[in-house]
This record gives sequence, C-alpha cells and structure tokens, in this order.
Amino acid sequence: MECIFCKIIAGQVPCDKVYEDDQAVAFLDIAPITRGHTLVVSKKHFSDVAATPVAVVALMMRALQRVAPAVMQAAGATAFNVGINNGLAAGQIVLHTHFHLIPRRADDRLQPWPHGKYGPGEGAALAGKIAAALTHA
Ligand code: AMP
Ligand code: ZN
Repeated sequence: MECIFCKIIAGQVPCDKVYEDDQAVAFLDIAPITRGHTLVVSKKHFSDVAATPVAVVALMMRALQRVAPAVMQAAGATAFNVGINNGLAAGQIVLHTHFHLIPRRADDRLQPWPHGKYGPGEGAALAGKIAAALTHA
C-alpha cells in the first residue's frame, strides 16, 4: 500500500486523530497552515473529490460540520476555511480524498487569494462554454 492516508487509516502510521465514523476520519495536518488545521479524510481510498461517490462526500461534509466547532473551540478560533485541492495543478499532494479544515482568527495574518477580473463579454462567453459542457456531460 503506497497511500499515506490509507496507511494512517489502517493504523500503520500514527496520527493525531480527533474523530472517526463509518465513512470518515479526521486528524491533525502534520504541517498546519494554522494551529488546529485538521484533515477530514474518506475511509475508503478515492483519488480525489471528483472521483468520490456523492454519498461519501456528503458524509465527509457531515463529519466536517461535526468536527469544526470542536476544532475552533480547542484552537481558540472564531471561523474556518474549508479547502479541497483537487488534482496536481491545484496543489494536491496526497491522492486520497480529503478536506482541509483550517481554523481562522481575525489576527492570523493569512493572506486571501488574489482576485482578477474579466474583460468585456469574457465572463459571459466563459459561462456559456461551461453551461454547454454541462449539457453535454
Ligand atoms: P493536499 O495538498 O491537499 O494533498 O494536502 C495533503 C496534506 O496532508 C498536507 O497539508 C500535508 O501536510 C498533510 N500530510 C501529509 N502527510 C501527513 C501525515 N502523515 N499526517 C498528517 N498530515 C499529513
Ligand atoms: Zn489512500
């Protein structure tokens, strides 16, 4: 077995586990973005969120909703971000479905992502392309 998260779930690699149910497990990220950064991980191996059955994604999100207030309380946070890196170009390193739960504080100094803007008609053309792709999917 090559997958580090499968090894953690099988008990072959230690982790700081905070939660477990039938479909999901949550443990602290070993390299936290903020204190309390937690990963909610599917128990079964799927390569990424797009390849994960919707019922599993829903149960992972239920686990995240359950875990988030406890993480915030323990870490002294007032808010949280949920992150999904889907695919290598998006920064996904571990190819096993997981959500990042990142506790936030008003003074944590994390920078927001930079925003761009569309030229005239560019947004409408792109939205049309996306809608067309959806009708052919
Ligand atoms: P991603 O870039 O979305 O694939 O994120 C993978 C995350 O897993 C990174 O934030 C890593 O710090 C974290 N990670 C990798 N190995 C371990 C481990 N053994 N225990 C806990 N977290 C890990
Ligand atoms: Zn795996």
